[in-house]
Amino acid sequence: MLLLDGKKTAQQIKEEIQEAVRLRKAKGLRIPHLAAVLVGNDGASLTYVGSKVRSCERIGIHSTLIQLEENITEEALLAQIESLNANPDIDGYIVQLPLPKHIDEQRVLLAVAPEKDVDGFHPLNFGRMALELEAFIPATPFGIIELLKRYQIPTSGKHCVVIGRSHIVGRPISILMSQKGPAGNATVTLAHSRTENLKALTLQADIIVSALGIPEFLKADMVKDGVIVIDVGITRVPDAAATKGYVIKGDVAYEEVAAKAQAITPVPGGVGPMTIAMLLENTLLACQRKDALAN
Ligand code: NAD
Repeated sequence: MLLLDGKKTAQQIKEEIQEAVRLRKAKGLRIPHLAAVLVGNDGASLTYVGSKVRSCERIGIHSTLIQLEENITEEALLAQIESLNANPDIDGYIVQLPLPKHIDEQRVLLAVAPEKDVDGFHPLNFGRMALELEAFIPATPFGIIELLKRYQIPTSGKHCVVIGRSHIVGRPISILMSQKGPAGNATVTLAHSRTENLKALTLQADIIVSALGIPEFLKADMVKDGVIVIDVGITRVPDAAATKGYVIKGDVAYEEVAAKAQAITPVPGGVGPMTIAMLLENTLLACQRKDALAN
């Protein structure tokens, strides 16, 4: 069984970005600058944003964390977005989701300037991605594609079952893996909560990408021998014995599925670190594209 080590691969990617940033600096070019907008004090969101900002610092990318009160009005948040759009020093930024209930998430994401949308959530980027044009690809599917490429996992002609149809993971990865090119050319089935007899589909799959958020949902009796499994799920499961009071679980019953798999990503240490690395990659790309436009 081959362990698809996202932690190690993400580290390599971050070193490559660090080198690219160092070269930019040596040439007198601008240092990429990522901003992150965090509304409220949600524990998981704080953890995610914190690790994104720390990763920037480690590899020499500038970062700014904008923390806003939970009760901020939608108009005030949109004003903040407008000022980030107008700020020439910011190459890209993210708005950490979820936003508080009183704020219209769609309206906020639509306000993000597409050329600074390093999360790739704006419809312009999503549409361009679907049409195989230059775009910002959402960091998690981008990370999955990169992991498959770097481990040279054959995908062409293979049957890939994606479980989960979210706009940030399931749907984009289903589009990317069906496209031409490396880590593409797969025959993709997109399964979701209304799918009937999911097990009959997963049993036929050469590759399974699981992104539904139910801990240990995918069991050994749902996969065939030699399957390749990408586990996107991250769920905090309460555990009194753990120092933090919870443990992180993926969507896959790891031990039993790994015993049948040809290759598998662990949780933690799989898709999670790849997501952060690809956000940094998108920030570098945003900076490079901005330079290209200016010349
Ligand atoms: P989501 O939570 O928005 O939606 C879940 C999807 O799963 C839906 O499309 C739903 O149709 C499907 N689903 C639910 N129950 C199902 C069932 N019984 N059978 C088949 N499909 C079912 O999805 P999301 O935002 O993509 O998140 C999914 C998981 O991935 C979560 O655990 C999330 O924390 C994790 N995640 C991880 C990363 C990372 O960097 N590793 C990034 C994003 C999300």
